[in-house]
Order: sequence, then C-alpha cells, then structure tokens
Amino acid sequence: MVKYVFVTGGVLSSVGKGILTSSIGKMLQARGVKVNVIKIDPYVNVDAGTMNPYMHGEVYVTDDGGETDLDLGWYERFLDLDLKKDNNVTTGLVYKAVIEKERRGDFLGRCVQIVPHVTNDIKHRIRGVAKDSGADVVLTEVGGTVGDIEGLPFLEAIRQMRLEEGYENTLYVHVALVPVLDVTKEMKTKPLQHSVNELRRIGIQPDTIVARSPEMIDAEALRKIALFGTIPEEAVFCSYNVGSIYQVPLILDQQGMSDFICKRFGLSDRQKDFKEWRQFVEAVLKPEYEVKIALVGKYSGLADSYVSMSEALRHGGAACRAKVNIDYLESEKLEQNADCAEILKGYDGIFVPYGFGPRGTEGKVAAVKYARENDVPFLGICYGFQLAVIEFSRHVCGLKDANSTEINPDSPYPVIDLMPEQRGIEIKGATMRLGAHKIVIEPDTIAHKLYKCDETYERHRHRFEVNLDYSEALRKNGLVFSAKSSDGRRMEMLELPDRFFFFASQFHGEFKSRPGRPDPEYYGFIKACLDKKLGKKEPEFS
Ligand code: GLN
Repeated sequence: MVKYVFVTGGVLSSVGKGILTSSIGKMLQARGVKVNVIKIDPYVNVDAGTMNPYMHGEVYVTDDGGETDLDLGWYERFLDLDLKKDNNVTTGLVYKAVIEKERRGDFLGRCVQIVPHVTNDIKHRIRGVAKDSGADVVLTEVGGTVGDIEGLPFLEAIRQMRLEEGYENTLYVHVALVPVLDVTKEMKTKPLQHSVNELRRIGIQPDTIVARSPEMIDAEALRKIALFGTIPEEAVFCSYNVGSIYQVPLILDQQGMSDFICKRFGLSDRQKDFKEWRQFVEAVLKPEYEVKIALVGKYSGLADSYVSMSEALRHGGAACRAKVNIDYLESEKLEQNADCAEILKGYDGIFVPYGFGPRGTEGKVAAVKYARENDVPFLGICYGFQLAVIEFSRHVCGLKDANSTEINPDSPYPVIDLMPEQRGIEIKGATMRLGAHKIVIEPDTIAHKLYKCDETYERHRHRFEVNLDYSEALRKNGLVFSAKSSDGRRMEMLELPDRFFFFASQFHGEFKSRPGRPDPEYYGFIKACLDKKLGKKEPEFS
C-alpha cells in the first residue's frame, strides 16, 4: 500500500516547506524507501510559465517540458529524482480539467461542485503520481498558508484521503514559524498554535509539527507546541537555521524525525545510510578555497529568481572544495555606469544568467565584453549564451548593432532570431522550446572534455536561436560552437578556445545539477575560476 505524507504550512509563507518536504523525502530515501513528491500551488495560473520570476522566483523546467514551481528543483536536488509536469498541481490546472469535462458533458447533467468534483480531481492527480512513479511514499506539499481561500479545496482533498487510505497510510505534517523576540529572546508559539487551530477547523489534526525557528526550540516551547497541538512531545521537531540548507535532513534525523515517521509507517526495520549526503555537506561546510562570482542579471533583487543557478554554482564549488560567494549585480547598473571595469574588477568569474526582454541587456553585453577582453572566466546560460554571441558579433566580427530580434527587431544584423516555424505564435503559455532535447557534442572541445560524452539530453526554455546565416562569420573569427541540436539547426554550446574559460550554453545545465554530482558546465566554470585564481596556466578539469 502506498503511504502519503502531506505537508502544510502556517503563520507565513516562505517558512521552508519545500526544504522540509525535501528533507523528509531524504530521510526516507536514506532508509531505502522509494519516494516521489508533488507540489500543490493554489494559485489560478495553469502553470508557473507565465509568472514573473522577480515576484515568484525562477520557473523550474522538468525533462518533459513542465514549467513548474521552484520547489520541484529542491525535490530534484535533494532526492535526485527527475520529476514530471504532473508533479506540480495548480488550481488553474484542476479547474481547467474539471470545466473541460463539464463542457464535454462528462458529468451527465449533474451540478458540478467543488466537493466532490474538484476534490476528486485533486485526489486523482495525487494517486496518479503514486501509481506512475511506483513510489512507496508520496509526499504532497500544499503551497501557501493554512487558511488561504485558494488552498481550501486542496486541504479538503487531503483530509478525505485519510478516510480513504487509512490512518496507517497517511501522515499530516504541519510546519509553522516560531519567532524569537529580539529583546527578551523568548520563543513565541502562539502564532503556531493559531495555525494548528485553523488546520483543525478544516478537519485536519496534524500528526507531527515542525517549528521553524532561528534556533533550536527550548523545552518550554516544545512542551507548549505538543500540548496545544494535541500530539506527544516526541512528535515535535525543530528546523532551525543552519549553515547549509543541505543539513536540514541531518538535523531532523538527529532529533528522531525519521524514526518517528518510519515507525508510524511500519518501516522502522530499515537501516539508514546518510554517508554520501554527509560527505557533500562536509565539503560545503569546510571549504579550502573561495571564489567570488559576479552574477549579472535582470532579476537580481530576488535571489530565488536564480536559485537553481546559484545551487549549481555551489555544487560545482563543493566538487573543488571552494566556497562560492555570489554577488547579484543589477545589469542595468552596468549600462548606466560607463566604467563597468570598476564594478567587475576583483571577481574571479562572471556569470550571465537567463532572461527575457530588452531591459538590462546592454549591461549584460558590457559584462560579457569585460570578461572576454580581460580573460576573466565566463559562463553564460540561455540569454547569457545569446548575449555572448551578440557581443562577439559586434566587437570581434565587426557587425555593428548586431542584436537579437527579441531586443531590437530592426537590427541590421539579427544574429539571434526566431526559427521560421516559431514566427506568428502569439499565445504565451507553454509555447517556448521546453524540456529535455538531445544535444550532440563536438570532439576535441572543452565541452567534450567536461561532458565526457558525444551526446546528452539537456533542458531548455527559450524561443530564440543563433541565426545560422551568421554562424560561419562567427566561426571564422574564432568562436567555436561545440554542441548542436541533433538536427544541427540549433547551436547549443559555444566556447572561445583562446581564453582561459569562456563558455556558454543555450540550455540550462543547472536543472540537472545535483549535490555531489555537479553539472559539467557549472563545475567547469567554478574550477576555471579557482585555477585562474591559483595562478595555473590552464584549467585542470577532473
Ligand atoms: N529570451 C531568450 C529566448 O527566449 C532567452 C530565454 C532564457 O534565457 N531562458 O530565447
């Protein structure tokens, strides 16, 4: 029988439900339990694809082309899973399906209602993931905060699942903030008590409560949470601030959370093994070196806009025992300030991430130029790749005002452009080139050295491409396209062999990066930054 864990959150959003859910998954995995994870997002958008990263954080892309919530990224990184579109359920998705059914007449004249039609659809999706993945335990994280209007149908659905799946196969985990007062240093459990009450009002009694607080909760707070939450003290845990997010499963395990869950599910006979995870955490916590990276982006005010990228950079760092310090620089500032050298000097590497639209692009081009001319290790991803092509076209190939038609439709040299078949698409949702596509890597290139294979699958999310009319001119001037799509029509990676490390990709390697198994391009970049800093003649990749 499949077991279900449901994670809800209280008091505030951003209380770390995604990390907690991933950590519970990790603790189960460490005992050999096969897990899978679903994120419920109660917003009315059908998927995250049309949402502004500056407000909601990055859009995470799955192999099958799903544009999903960034929490799926945490699940994939913690649990080394390749999730699917179906692992992210939104109100928009559910209602769209229910309304389409109604229009088809599938409900045979009945009045279509939230209970049971919407709730049935939700339960069906959760069970569908359980069935498709073949997992022993399916974790479902309900986004938002208990008490939100949008979340109610989802909470009702998971409430019903206890009745249908049985007590022994379901577990409700509630996480809520326990603030510590500045002056008295007192730990306040009252907001948490209120959120537990709110959950009960909906009909869910939590089985375990996790206090999210800056430090380990004291005995008094723990006693109160147990008493008012009507659970034994052994069922109260604390997720306190730690040096690395990857420590969270370890600190919860230490408090007995994995024993508690496994006992409850009858899985406690299994031995746990955190060896590899611990090794990675060790490497993160005890670095020998340090590199300083300038991330020149458009959404730099919100670090969550680039979370998979910054994590991939850190995975790369852990592999060479280097702490990676990232400064998020607003690209528009480089545009206004003619002396971009002043801002960029002192960085070991320059990183230009993904992006959309014209704003801030000239600042990014200036950063690429600085990196190329001063031979500072450079990595460009997606827009970063396209802007590197633009910079090279303008300043090396002499194609003045070369640009992408996304930025300047009237550019005399549209070196980045739409493919003919993409012209005329006006709908915004899910119309990009999305998900995993095969790429073919050229022999004798840096790419080949890093990827150690002739072909691989990488995840994409873009509309524009290198315009093949210019690829010969670029090549003649020394730019190497070291990987292409399998039909050869799309350029996937570029490099400048005469630089210490100048590399970019049209795809997003960060979505495949895992702790202990960094993505090759991110590893290559950080290793190059470190080796250059250490005065080596060329980067030494393992
Ligand atoms: N805006 C560019 C495109 O649509 C790049 C997209 C990206 O960086 N993800 O092709």
